[in-house]
Amino acid sequence: MASSAGPEIERLITLLARLPGLGPRSARRAALALLKKREQLLLPLGQAFADAAERVCTCATCGALDTADPCAICADGARDPALICVVDEVGSLWALERAGAFRGRYHVLGGLLSALDGIGPGALRIAPLIARAAEPSVAEVILALPATVDGQTTAHYLADRLAGAGVTVSLLARGVPVGGDLDWLDDGTIAQAMRARRPA
Ligand SMILES: [Zn+2]
Repeated sequence: MASSAGPEIERLITLLARLPGLGPRSARRAALALLKKREQLLLPLGQAFADAAERVCTCATCGALDTADPCAICADGARDPALICVVDEVGSLWALERAGAFRGRYHVLGGLLSALDGIGPGALRIAPLIARAAEPSVAEVILALPATVDGQTTAHYLADRLAGAGVTVSLLARGVPVGGDLDWLDDGTIAQAMRARRPA
């Protein structure tokens, strides 16, 4: 990405290019936008980065990101302590919270088991999950993991490990999405939806 920019600008572009979804070309565009909007964008963003770096921490209980430990969800007494929803990453937790369909607590694994990438159970927050599931207040563990090979491998492994914990272990339903037209769906989704059919 050779350019005639000074070292500070090159450094900004190099760092921006490491962000997910940004290659060198879009990083240059983003850097230019920041530099052109110094007061409105560059300075407030710099302050937001500094605040986040100083204040955001990982919740020791569930693994979520927040400015407090325990996080706001773990500390919320209105949340149902009987339900733990297991997700791969914080982004999945945020997606479930946006949907507003779950009023229990979460457990963030920090990834998925992957033979290909050499990620074993010790690399994920599985031992703390087993310990939480054994608490008397917990009745159900919901495995809300991706419908991928690694996601399903991880779900099977966790279901085995949780078998002796005295909790119900459940999986998210898979099938026809809201607003989905059968003609647009992939074969795997249609097959899953047919297998998971229920009485009308
Ligand atoms: Zn938490």
